[in-house]
Amino acid sequence: MTTYLDYAATTPVDPQFAKDASEYMLKSYYNPSASYAEAGAVKRDMEEARAIIANSINAEPGDIIFTSGATEANNMVIKGNNWDYIVTSPYEHPSVAKAVDDADTYTIEDICTWYPGFDFYSGLFTYMLANNEVGFVQDIKQCAKIAHAYDAKVHTDATQAYGHIPIDVKDLDIDYMTVSFHKCGCAKGIGFLYVRNGAPLFPLLYGGGQERGLRSGTENTAFIYASGQHVKRMGVIKPDYTLRDTLKGYLKILPYCHINETDNQLPNILSITIDGVRSDILLSLLNENGICCSAGSACHAGDPSPSSTLLAFGLSEDEALRTIRVSWGENTKIEELNLFVYVLQQCMRLLEE
Ligand code: PMP
Repeated sequence: MTTYLDYAATTPVDPQFAKDASEYMLKSYYNPSASYAEAGAVKRDMEEARAIIANSINAEPGDIIFTSGATEANNMVIKGNNWDYIVTSPYEHPSVAKAVDDADTYTIEDICTWYPGFDFYSGLFTYMLANNEVGFVQDIKQCAKIAHAYDAKVHTDATQAYGHIPIDVKDLDIDYMTVSFHKCGCAKGIGFLYVRNGAPLFPLLYGGGQERGLRSGTENTAFIYASGQHVKRMGVIKPDYTLRDTLKGYLKILPYCHINETDNQLPNILSITIDGVRSDILLSLLNENGICCSAGSACHAGDPSPSSTLLAFGLSEDEALRTIRVSWGENTKIEELNLFVYVLQQCMRLLEE
């Protein structure tokens, strides 16, 4: 039996999501842009999903653009505008960091080197809401305050945060936000971009003019419908730190475990640096014993270099290479975390011999 503790890479699909999506694609397969009544019903379902999703982040339905996920949405924000400069953090996911590298603009990685003279130019601040490797939550409200004081726009990648902590785009005062639904119980290949009314955006994809002309391509109606239903079932998000606190309590007793965290963390990710063993060796041993977790992001797996996020977080190269990420979801049982701690201890004993 496998104990899956890599929810930050992707969550298991909620069976109700799978049921809703498969029934919908079999029954309501019509193209929402067609003119007959059956297609109109699909369009209405899609708009209902848009309204539910908008409501979940205190946005207006017209501010939501469905995409294939956060990678596409991040690229739309960064490359769908001619930003004169972009201010970003060293913690961003590659779908932000690499898009920024490729955007052919002036990039500032350290907010302290940015200066107010930049208010003559069009600028974007892109800071993730919650980090995928360590799980810390950034102060996007403060970031928006600074950016807006100088007329720059603010984007946050909320892929890891959505469904795990409450998000209110009006309170955060942001212009763009990106989400992939497969991090909160839905399928891969569906997500959205929030664009505040009036914030500039040009399409990356041209075609049939769907999604207000900003994202052409026939919409993934079954996943959009099922995501809307899923978000409705999620309801108001109330983070529960019980599992995290319990796991942290267990690990604190093990002298070879060191927790990486700030005082504002997601409830479902724990980053652990372990003395004396490289993460790739430990992870394959854990996996042989039925545990699935990862070294950091799934996108970084197989790369022998230390994670730049962990280095920016203050770990040495050696520490970064000895760091693993454990992540879970609302259906995870405390027994599964107990088993993880037990297997970890067994593996460490084996490695010592
Ligand atoms: N941003 C973050 C923070 C992520 O964790 C991920 C997924 N690993 C992405 C963006 C990209 O999401 P997707 O692969 O679904 O496009």
